[in-house]
Amino acid sequence: MGVLPRVVIVGAGFGGLEVARGLARAPVEVIVVDRNNFHTFQPLLYQVATAGLNDADVAYAVRGLFHKQHNVDVRVGEVTGVDWAARSLTIADEPPLEFDHLVVGVGASVSFFGVAGADECAFPLYTLPDAVLLRNHILERFEAAAADPSLIDQGVLTFVVVGGGPTGVETAGALAELFAQVLRKDYPRVDVSRARVILVELDRRLLPPFTPASGKHALDVLTRMHVEVRTREQVERITPTSVSLASGEVIATCTLVWAAGVRANPLADVLGLEQGPGGRIVVGPDLRAPGQRDVWVVGDIALARDRKGDPLPQLAPVAMQGGRHIARQIKRALDGAPTKPFRYRNKGTMATIGRRAAVAELPGGIRLQGTLGWMAWLALHIYYLVGKRNRVSVLLNWMWMYLTWDRGPRLILRVGERDSVSRHG
Ligand SMILES: Cc1cc2nc3c(=O)[nH]c(=O)nc-3n(C[C@H](O)[C@H](O)[C@H](O)COP(=O)(O)OP(=O)(O)OC[C@H]3O[C@@H](n4cnc5c(N)ncnc54)[C@H](O)[C@@H]3O)c2cc1C
Repeated sequence: MGVLPRVVIVGAGFGGLEVARGLARAPVEVIVVDRNNFHTFQPLLYQVATAGLNDADVAYAVRGLFHKQHNVDVRVGEVTGVDWAARSLTIADEPPLEFDHLVVGVGASVSFFGVAGADECAFPLYTLPDAVLLRNHILERFEAAAADPSLIDQGVLTFVVVGGGPTGVETAGALAELFAQVLRKDYPRVDVSRARVILVELDRRLLPPFTPASGKHALDVLTRMHVEVRTREQVERITPTSVSLASGEVIATCTLVWAAGVRANPLADVLGLEQGPGGRIVVGPDLRAPGQRDVWVVGDIALARDRKGDPLPQLAPVAMQGGRHIARQIKRALDGAPTKPFRYRNKGTMATIGRRAAVAELPGGIRLQGTLGWMAWLALHIYYLVGKRNRVSVLLNWMWMYLTWDRGPRLILRVGERDSVSRHG
């Protein structure tokens, strides 16, 4: 180990990157380890899946982010555990990596809540390969319908989205727009008006984390887009050709997009640290793992709480603010100063539904919807996107889509077999 203390950050997500950036001028050696050589901007994955954006628009090579930060090194590798006695990480097919401070920020992964057939047949939307796989699958269904229109009766153009939270609402809206505005023209011999998008939500309304008014707005807009919304409904069983609902309805379909549930990344289960609901690692007020002096946990995998004791949501701003906080606390710890508690500042939540339709709920009870909400959503996502090139590319893509109603890459990109695509976070 070198002379400088070594901070190893596992996960180049929203949280991990902010820790690394926050240590820019600190007298430490920083090593960021991620299973991919890129950061993924998850909030826009649904646009890759629905041919709105290119895959490279929502991902950024991690090494490219640290050209000017000379105390950072990057390693690509799958972290599989920690040897606490040796204070080193175990990384698949790599030598162990020793640390003085460890930051765990590996995010969340999909949870199918034990729904029969979901593991084999559902399409989660958690990683970039997930998004490309789903895009391929959607376009392949339209190719199948073009080759044999009788397949429409068997549900080849029926798409079920599970989960009426922001991701499900965004995905359902984007699918409806893709079909009505673009695939209708790409497939002039297919009766695309028979394509169905069905959104299934367990709660009595859409967007449960938002106010009822926002949920109602989402319902109205989606209904206008001919999305069939089923609230107080549950998926019980999924097969390659059907979805069975709790109400007894059986929908013929080969596509179920899973936007319903998450749990902590499986790495949380092998670290030996205390876990709470959803497998998240319990952290103290300063975001340290209890009983550990030099182990910090950030983002979706951390079970941090607000002043009232409620768990903080698994959202990008929580991870980013947490990452900045941890960087400050590591510097304090190195100076021998006591750490401070993390206070999350909620700057609002947003969800888009479709073209010029979104909801934004901001502090102070301010609620925007329709075009205003949509513009706020666009601006925020451009602002938070990682990488200047990606910001320009996404902005151009969105302007192009807005002006022409055309969409981005409708490519069926077969890069590897289905089995080689990680579908679990
Ligand atoms: C489809 C979707 C839409 C979303 N939309 C929004 C939104 O609109 N607004 C919002 O605020 N939040 C949204 N979120 C949530 C937001 O993306 C997360 O809260 C945020 O990404 C959490 O950041 P993180 O740093 O904890 O983890 P992540 O950003 O998930 O990063 C984790 C990193 O760890 C790496 N990793 C995982 N396992 C290992 C391992 N074993 N070894 C090495 N590396 C590993 C991964 O490759 C990844 O780079 C969305 C999430 C999803 C999935």
